[in-house]
Amino acid sequence: MKEFTLDNGIKIPSVVVGVFRVEDAKIAYDMIRTALAVGYRHIDTAMIYGNEEAVGKAIKDSGVDRKDIFLTTKLWNDDQRSGKVNEAIETSLSKLGTEYVDLYLVHWPVKGTYADVWKKMEKVYENGKAKAIGVSNYNIHHLDDLLEKAEVIPAVNQIECYQYFSQENIVKYCRDKGICPEAWGPLGAGQSDILSNQVIMEIAEKHSKTPAQVVLRWNLQRGVVVIPKSVHENRLKENLDIYNFRLEDDDMQRICSLNKDLRLGADPDNFNF
Ligand code: NDP
Repeated sequence: MKEFTLDNGIKIPSVVVGVFRVEDAKIAYDMIRTALAVGYRHIDTAMIYGNEEAVGKAIKDSGVDRKDIFLTTKLWNDDQRSGKVNEAIETSLSKLGTEYVDLYLVHWPVKGTYADVWKKMEKVYENGKAKAIGVSNYNIHHLDDLLEKAEVIPAVNQIECYQYFSQENIVKYCRDKGICPEAWGPLGAGQSDILSNQVIMEIAEKHSKTPAQVVLRWNLQRGVVVIPKSVHENRLKENLDIYNFRLEDDDMQRICSLNKDLRLGADPDNFNF
């Protein structure tokens, strides 16, 4: 379970360190150095997070081989609107100090651009600048539109997903189409009481694990990659230490029943950025 396999055969580490809202270069640098030192091998950034340079420098200084790190970045909405996909990946690669990323994602479904942007993403893939390409924040109807014309199936769909917003339908759709689902905000993005939910706390106690470990493990057992973010070493370690226990069917069911379709982030059908 440490790695899942994407549709094109590439292995993807299933617990990812995310760096959204870590704009301060020193904090981002330190966080990635720490994350790599404690065992993370998958980093999720984006052009719009403003920390690609710090991430790239941390990777370089870490002593970990570039080929042993799975690096994701994302194509921002302005670059979709202007159609400058190749320019955008080149800028990201230069900031990250690398010749390729492992995964390049269309960050949000910008209306009217899906087919054209995806064609250009396919070129990025063909040119080897990304080992895999995918999307983020795509609902089922966005994916249906994209798949009509796509030659390369998106390897990944990165969506908001935690226990009060379990996105069961999209997760199932993605699984059926060979698209690997990834969960952003898997801990409730620091805006939810999910980590003090009674059911989660009971299950955590039963397995001698923390609530954070239980909520992350639940997604892994559904085949969903998780992207927890923390700037603290103890939490980075805690969030990675989820491979040594198994939630039982009954635990999984109880956690599934917590869903209340409660979205915390922006709605992909109605965003203005
Ligand atoms: P998370 O669910 O990862 O929550 C992060 C919050 O939880 C922070 O406040 C963090 O605090 C806290 N935290 C981390 N670990 C623990 C723990 N073990 N116990 C208690 N609290 C903890 O949400 P994010 O919104 O940060 O999302 C994670 C990643 O997903 C982002 O960094 C980004 O890579 C990606 N993302 C992608 C989006 C997209 O549109 N594709 C949108 C949003 C996020 P602290 O740092 O102080 O430890």
